[in-house]
Amino acid sequence: TARLYLVATPIGNREDITLRALRILKEVDWVAAEDTRHSGQLLKHFQISARLISYHEHNVAQRIPELLGYLSVGQSVALISDAGTPAISDPGEELVRACLQAGIPVVPIPGPVAAITALIASGLSTRRFVFEGFLPSKTRQRQAHLRQLAQEPRTLIFYEAPHRLRQTLQDLSACFGPERQVVLARELTKLHETFWRGSLAAALEHLNTQPPRGEFTLLIEGAVNLDHDPENSPSETEIRQELAQL
Ligand code: SAM
Repeated sequence: TARLYLVATPIGNREDITLRALRILKEVDWVAAEDTRHSGQLLKHFQISARLISYHEHNVAQRIPELLGYLSVGQSVALISDAGTPAISDPGEELVRACLQAGIPVVPIPGPVAAITALIASGLSTRRFVFEGFLPSKTRQRQAHLRQLAQEPRTLIFYEAPHRLRQTLQDLSACFGPERQVVLARELTKLHETFWRGSLAAALEHLNTQPPRGEFTLLIEGAVNLDHDPENSPSETEIRQELAQL
């Protein structure tokens, strides 16, 4: 039946594929993938022979009508990305909207996301967080964007390419101050998975001795400590009343 499945695939460790993902990938008529060669290897590893079609940021406009065409004759499509969950800092959003507009059901098949994987082991507050994805690549836009985030109280999560990491940490340090705590989550779920924790100033020093290699997710402590939950704390009036009774 006509359905768009958004299928999460591993972010490194192939054992992280879900049983449901494997079944859907076997059953669908088409697998739309960002990089058909890369995804072809993954499917081959799991002995899945699927009809692959490329779907990436440069052919979205051309592919959407094509995929809608298959869906409109009752075929099913699974969208996968190079790693992790499709539509999270990956193409997919437009296809989802196009399907919804055409009345085609969209079914999420959940699995790994680098942002959440990094967050849960970061040691930073997980109660409230903001996913920022990739920062703008132009210096001025990046710095303007970071300035807006300087007072953000929630834990911040960024994706960054290794060759930009140092510059981004410098910009973060300039906007948030060198003492703000940062966690560098590197090569998650892979052989060389590491978590580095410390201040922005120390992170920059650390990268001088160890140039960034591999994939990084960056987490920054929020501007105030959220362990203090204002919603569940007494109001100023309540505190005054308590004090008056002493
Ligand atoms: N859709 C993916 C997801 O669900 O996480 C994200 C895709 S985005 C194009 C790629 C970025 O995600 C990388 O530049 C890196 O910041 C982060 N990332 C992906 N895999 C990672 C890993 N194994 N370890 C750390 N960060 C990772």
